[in-house]
Amino acid sequence: MRNTVSLQAIKSYVIDKNGAVSAVELVEYFKNRFNKTTIYRVLARLEEQGEVHSVIGKDANTYYATCHSTCSKESHNDNHVHRQCKKCGELSCVEIEMRAPTSNDFIIEETKILLIGVCKNCQ
Ligand SMILES: [Zn+2]
Ligand SMILES: [Zn+2]
Ligand SMILES: [Zn+2]
Repeated sequence: MRNTVSLQAIKSYVIDKNGAVSAVELVEYFKNRFNKTTIYRVLARLEEQGEVHSVIGKDANTYYATCHSTCSKESHNDNHVHRQCKKCGELSCVEIEMRAPTSNDFIIEETKILLIGVCKNCQ
């Protein structure tokens, strides 16, 4: 039961954010309600269910963003680019599909590209 409450709360926070949220931010925000272990477990579960996808930021933190309708329990189709502002740290999804290059003797299953720069607010 408690698990459902934390799952719903964390899921809506990520959806409302309209960008990516770091696990650190979630732990800080929910510190009076859920412990760290619960938060990490919920995030892993949401990712497994195809609700959110994770991105490693330039600060080595893991960020989570809402998935689009093509993602499901079976597979994630988040081959878009991500970008992160080096000044404020904001990380977001960019709707540019990346076509993976071909590589002999290697099966490419996903591409992870992070563009680093300066966002509109920080320019
Ligand atoms: Zn996904
Ligand atoms: Zn910025
Ligand atoms: Zn994304």
